[in-house]
Amino acid sequence: MSEKISVNSAWQTALTQLDNVSMTMMLSEDVHQLLRNFERILTVSIPVRMDNGSLRVFNGFRVQHNSARGPYKGGVRYHPDLTLDDLKALAMEMTWKCSLVGVPFGGAKGGIICNPKVLSKGELERLTRRFTYAIMPIIGIEKDILAPDVNTNEQIMAWMMDTYSMNNGYCTPGIVTGKPVNIGGSLGRTDATGLGITFSIASAIKSKKINFKGLKVAIQGYGNVGSTVGKLLSEMGSKIVAVSSSKGGVFNPKGLNHIALMKHYKEHGSFDNFPRAESITNEALLELPCDVLVPAAMGNQITKENADKIKAKMVVEGANGPTTLEADHILNERKIPVVPDILANAGGVIVSYFEWVQDVQCYFWCEHEVNAKLKNLLDRSYEEVFRLSQERKVNLRTAAMILAVKKVADAISVRGLYP
Ligand code: NAD
Repeated sequence: MSEKISVNSAWQTALTQLDNVSMTMMLSEDVHQLLRNFERILTVSIPVRMDNGSLRVFNGFRVQHNSARGPYKGGVRYHPDLTLDDLKALAMEMTWKCSLVGVPFGGAKGGIICNPKVLSKGELERLTRRFTYAIMPIIGIEKDILAPDVNTNEQIMAWMMDTYSMNNGYCTPGIVTGKPVNIGGSLGRTDATGLGITFSIASAIKSKKINFKGLKVAIQGYGNVGSTVGKLLSEMGSKIVAVSSSKGGVFNPKGLNHIALMKHYKEHGSFDNFPRAESITNEALLELPCDVLVPAAMGNQITKENADKIKAKMVVEGANGPTTLEADHILNERKIPVVPDILANAGGVIVSYFEWVQDVQCYFWCEHEVNAKLKNLLDRSYEEVFRLSQERKVNLRTAAMILAVKKVADAISVRGLYP
């Protein structure tokens, strides 16, 4: 059966991906319809007293996609352009990601339409606390666990945990992950996503019989995720040939020094005028000749307009949804493997799960133990995806989706329909 490939928003992409994979695996129409829909979407208004004494009302959401395999889990995003459709796509993706890597959670996502960069610390705290209070009826350690996402961080997680704990009447660290280590956060969480991407690159290059030494890597977006990948790969002898931020990037085919890049960015707020490197745009970075391209910034970066010009030997998705469906199809035709986001960047949710396990047990692990367990889960998941892609002669994304959707569908079937 031929695939439908016509999409333009993240939500349409998520739905089309589900429809395509449901057809491929001949999923029952009942389960397919259930998975296209959401278990719960809560919209809240959040009144906040601003520093100048005025009252401003913000809008927030919590989207719970599916809990057949366990409590909902997902980040909270603060962004002025946030839409409910974006959150629906991200919540659905969380369901697949948790399922694929064997984390016993379902998918959720939340957010507030706001620009945190123009809020004072006090306004941000009041906004966060009132939002947490507003969604309290539907969250809980065994119901729905929150986490950081774009523009939310450890401090915001600490305020959420405190607000929930105060209203609950006792300290409840397991309500959020990604919080500071001294209040129940996990060692290894900060680097987990980047480390997981590095494990995925290791698995992908092993199957092509290449090794890390001299590997040429271009990284779009040198933030938390991208810079951790850059640091770890540099330590293993790879060449980081290009990096970028939202303001543009730099390129040197002989390699860029990770420590110098970080220092320069800290001092100047961009990579402009980085010594011994050519300035490039974010678009040009994607089209550079290299062994591995890691998009680690925003969604919808590799599109039908540029997929034909990608010269990387493989793409490993650090960001969520960086490749559109049309681009995925083109890369597939060109035999450029793409390690999909739900596998490549799952390190973050895996260590979030470990954090929750440690909180619930009040028993904390050393960083080595966290990283070793992360490697074990990700290597096993990669192997399962790779094997299925060979058996079914499908690309890695389709194989990953088949495995992920199947586990959720099986859980729905065996639990049955209530009442
Ligand atoms: P971040 O904010 O730390 O870094 C993002 C980087 O991308 C920055 O360098 C920023 O300047 C750059 N950027 C922003 N807009 C850009 C644009 N339009 N073009 C090019 N570059 C741009 O964020 P992060 O935590 O590193 O997350 C990056 C991506 O990885 C996001 O898509 C996020 O959803 C995804 N992700 C993150 C985690 C995690 O644990 N942090 C886990 C899974 C997926």
